[in-house]
Amino acid sequence: MDHSVQLHIAGSWRDGGERATLANLNPATGETVGQVAVATQGDLDEALAAADRGFAAWRKVSAFERGKVLRKAAGLLRERAEDVARLMSAEQGKPLAEARIETAVASDIMEWFAEEGRRAYGRVIPARAEGVLQFVVREPIGPVAAFTPWNFPINQAVRKISAALCTGCSVILKGPEDTPASCRELVRAFLDAGVPGDVLGLVFGDPAAISGYLIPHPIIRKISFTGSVPVGKQLAALAGQHMKRATMELGGHAPAIVFDDADVETAVKVLSTNKFRNAGQVCVAPTRFLVQDRVYDRFVEGFLAAAEAIRVGNGLDDATTMGPLIHGRRLEAIEGLAADAEAKGARLRTGGKRIGNRGNFFEPTVFTDVPHEARAMNEEPFGPVALINRFTDDDEALQEANRLPFGLASYAYTRSASRATRVAAGIEAGMVSINHHGIALPETPFGGVRDSGYGSEGGSEAIEAYLTTKFVTQANP
Ligand code: NAD
Repeated sequence: MDHSVQLHIAGSWRDGGERATLANLNPATGETVGQVAVATQGDLDEALAAADRGFAAWRKVSAFERGKVLRKAAGLLRERAEDVARLMSAEQGKPLAEARIETAVASDIMEWFAEEGRRAYGRVIPARAEGVLQFVVREPIGPVAAFTPWNFPINQAVRKISAALCTGCSVILKGPEDTPASCRELVRAFLDAGVPGDVLGLVFGDPAAISGYLIPHPIIRKISFTGSVPVGKQLAALAGQHMKRATMELGGHAPAIVFDDADVETAVKVLSTNKFRNAGQVCVAPTRFLVQDRVYDRFVEGFLAAAEAIRVGNGLDDATTMGPLIHGRRLEAIEGLAADAEAKGARLRTGGKRIGNRGNFFEPTVFTDVPHEARAMNEEPFGPVALINRFTDDDEALQEANRLPFGLASYAYTRSASRATRVAAGIEAGMVSINHHGIALPETPFGGVRDSGYGSEGGSEAIEAYLTTKFVTQANP
């Protein structure tokens, strides 16, 4: 499959041609595997006009028919999954096994939305007078501008595209420039399944220039962004200025509380796996481990063993369990966070440095006794760095869990039902997962609170963001 990526505008694929291009790099080798075309303002204007036309037609297609197209797209992606996963692993770096899961889950998500679009129910409200009919209808909001990142090139995009399409909206997706080919394959599955060319556009280029043009544009009615908190705040402000509805899936810094009555072996296994999945470049990755005195040593020992057992390498090698970081900037950021933690007095227990000088590899890293002053305790690490601290009483752990302005995912391990209830109620987060990792299924809400953003991209809540509410009251003459 081809790593060079074209734009999809108004039903046709447009290659670099006269346009500028960006290199698509393999993060494991640093080699250029393809080029991605950069959209011009003329391209964006054409994409906008197409989205406008596409919306007018697609909204008239029944939810039942739209659902059939989405289900067909899910099937096509499943058929192509192995090739797509290889493409993803080569441009994103994640182990092939993770890329396969991401591709498979994308089909599940499409199927969920294929059905959910048929449940965009309105209601009838009893009237105060005879002969009056009062009802509420949900209508598609209109053309959507969606912006998705490189950490899950398919998974982040599929939630936005599917929710928009199942409700009758058109979409212009600005895909991830670092991982464009696997994202393109997702778009191709939708188009091959019968989504009209005007309804789904795909562009790449300068992210700030594209968002700065699309968000204020009068054709666009809804914004959905996944990425960092600072960029999310800028885009939300721009959306607010132009009174556009927005969904913001931003970063987190997930606390993982391990109480002294926990099943420590399970906690070590599940938390370490999820910490280092995708080299830690996951917004719901557990990042601040808070472990109670009595089980602290056992947890740290197990966690270190798990980190040291990780096989770092090229994602396309079968033996690899953790790949490289996405780009040189992320590598530098992680080096900086690790150096700062050490300088502030944290104990480096394993890892801590770059591996070799080819590709963006960084060792699975564990710090314990990390002071609050360390930058990593305050900024989303977004890399293979685990921060483990000890606590004594339950309130202290909850206080630390809520110390930061983020509120995306959170985790706790305990055998006590009352502790589990107290944690679930006391943690300020959009998602709380207790005694297992149960986050991000198609049918469950996915989203954050506070600086982690607003809106949900899973469960029945997910289609809300793409619907408006119209109230109609009608008296018969
Ligand atoms: P970055 O902030 O440059 O980019 C993150 C994403 O936002 C990219 O997809 C990028 O194309 C996009 N982006 C950046 N500026 C934009 C703009 N003005 N308009 C529209 N899109 C824009 O950082 P990065 O180095 O690629 O990633 C670093 C940070 O991003 C991480 O520390 C993490 O906090 C965050 N991030 C979060 C997620 C997530 O799933 N929530 C995913 C990727 C990155």
